[in-house]
Amino acid sequence: MSWDVSAVRRQFPFYANLEHPLHYLDSAATAQMHAAAFEAMGAHDIHARSNVLRGNHRLAEAATLAYEAARASVARFLNASAAEEIVFTSGCTAAINLVAGALAHSLQAGDEILVSLAEHHSNFLPWQRLRERGVLLRALPLDAVGCIDFSRLEVQLGNRCRLIALTHASNVTGALTSAADIAAVVAAARAVGARVLLDGAQRVQHGPVDVRQLGVDFYAFSGHKCFGPTGIGVLWGRREALAELPPFMTGGGMVGRVAIDESSWAEPPRRFEAGTPPIAQAVGLGAVLEWMLALPWERIRAHEEALLLRLLAGLMAIPGVALFGPANAADRLPVIALRLATHHSHDVCQVLDSRGVAVRGGHHCAQLLHRALGVEETVRASLALYSDADDVDALLAALHEAARVLA
Ligand code: PMP
Repeated sequence: MSWDVSAVRRQFPFYANLEHPLHYLDSAATAQMHAAAFEAMGAHDIHARSNVLRGNHRLAEAATLAYEAARASVARFLNASAAEEIVFTSGCTAAINLVAGALAHSLQAGDEILVSLAEHHSNFLPWQRLRERGVLLRALPLDAVGCIDFSRLEVQLGNRCRLIALTHASNVTGALTSAADIAAVVAAARAVGARVLLDGAQRVQHGPVDVRQLGVDFYAFSGHKCFGPTGIGVLWGRREALAELPPFMTGGGMVGRVAIDESSWAEPPRRFEAGTPPIAQAVGLGAVLEWMLALPWERIRAHEEALLLRLLAGLMAIPGVALFGPANAADRLPVIALRLATHHSHDVCQVLDSRGVAVRGGHHCAQLLHRALGVEETVRASLALYSDADDVDALLAALHEAARVLA
């Protein structure tokens, strides 16, 4: 049985309410939101809106139960050992900044952090800022198509490395970091006593993740990239990895005892959730992850891969198109960066938009990756489980048109 795109589109209010035909091929930036999230958030704010974790009445209790149920859904989605390993944040960027900011307290001048040149700025700049503390930032280089060159791991990993932060999938090339490469990174990190963080922002849209199998210490992602609400994200941390971190933000809800000179912190995850969290958004994310957990991912992957191959074949037939990323579809997500001759990506996007095709142009918050590929910016098209062959064909036709109009 093949994946039924029209059936899934009926579950996305975006598709039911489109006034003009639009081929949305920018799900890597923000995916459309599933009805389960709309419904769960609406119902929560009508029937159980209250603050969490510190109320003494029935609504506060209902809100707390819903919030903690959402945490349990995230734990299931990631196959975490316990719900206490899930910290809600405002997004993937906030989750990575939390680890960097909390870790900063124990870093010494001369300690090292290892990243790669493929990182989104959200998984690069928080680590670069640690240089203010004398921390040395090292980076794995990229190969000719923009994939992380893991053959350089041994050379780049110093004895004083405290953390390795890598993307699980590139937001530009779609390149997936393989389980074998992650295992090698984890083994190398263990040998020098470093932690490993994976940026899962792009990967989560394409199915549940098994953090225990990956063997890493931290995993970060955003709700809006996996069909959930904006304003909510997740940091998963292995129990012992979270336990050794001090708070990043302080405020209500994350303390034990407060005294004038000194205070004690709550245990994780509360230690990292200062202030009122995005409660309805967490509930919406929980609902959408439960929906995702029940999906037939093998069929969806086959569908996405078939579309990707159709797109790649069509792109290769357009004169002047240059492609980046792995040649093998199995090694990548359905995310494609391209250049159309020497045309600026914004000009290309404008022509595409006028033809009802929404893609993104620019450096996609990955300037280092682009520079390594010898370009400043690219056009990026990204497919999701609600994309179909019409979307791909419309993109190809619009690119032919752009090549003609911009020539
Ligand atoms: N990492 C990657 C790989 C991303 O694609 C993004 C979003 N473009 C982020 C991190 C940051 O996510 P957010 O803006 O939702 O915090």
